[in-house]
Formats: sequence, structure tokens, C-alpha cells
Amino acid sequence: MPPHDLRISVRSAWNGWETAEIRLADLNDIHWLQPTGAPKPLVHGYVSCQCIVEGQIPHDCPGTRPPHRVLVCVLKNHTIASVYTQLTRRADAAHAAGVKASVRSEAVLGADPPV
Ligand SMILES: [Zn+2]
Repeated sequence: MPPHDLRISVRSAWNGWETAEIRLADLNDIHWLQPTGAPKPLVHGYVSCQCIVEGQIPHDCPGTRPPHRVLVCVLKNHTIASVYTQLTRRADAAHAAGVKASVRSEAVLGADPPV
């Protein structure tokens, strides 16, 4: 399977039960985020709701004109290890770039990526 066709499982919340399958290539702006109640920072990213292959990510789709950028969470134990490693590297890179630009979100800044 070519890498751009690789599918990953994502969810709208780290502790949410609703999952969706998307193509890895459709996940953008990958970053670390520690949601309220989460034990540690988790890999998050944005995906267009029109790129969801299977399942659904709950959001206000009928309310406004699509496509919508939906924030999704990628869990380590639901992701192929090599893919997850790749995602954490991209999140680390975004984190480093964000620190350089002396960023916006304290949630991201204050959270150190897990080693
Ligand atoms: Zn939508």
C-alpha cells in the first residue's frame, strides 16, 4: 500500500468512543495537545470532514457550509507503531517551530512531548 493511501484511525476526543478512518495524507497541522483530563499530551491534527473515509467525527456539519476542519486525536495503541512514530516526529517539529515563534497556546507550550 503506498504511504499516501495508508489509513489511520482517529477520534474527536482522546476518551471518545466515536472513531473515524482517514487517510494519513489527509491529516494536517499535527501537534501535541493535552486535553483536559488526559494523562499526557497526545497527537492531534486537523482533517477535513470531507476526507473521512469511514465512520464519523461529530461536529456541526449541517450548521455551516462544508468542508470543515475538524480537530482529531490519534491514539498510540490504535495506530501502527511506525506510523505513530512518524506522527510524533511531525508533532515534535511543530512544537519546536511553535516555541521558536513564541506561540499562542499555553496548552501546547506547557506540555512536553512524552519521551
Ligand atoms: Zn463538516
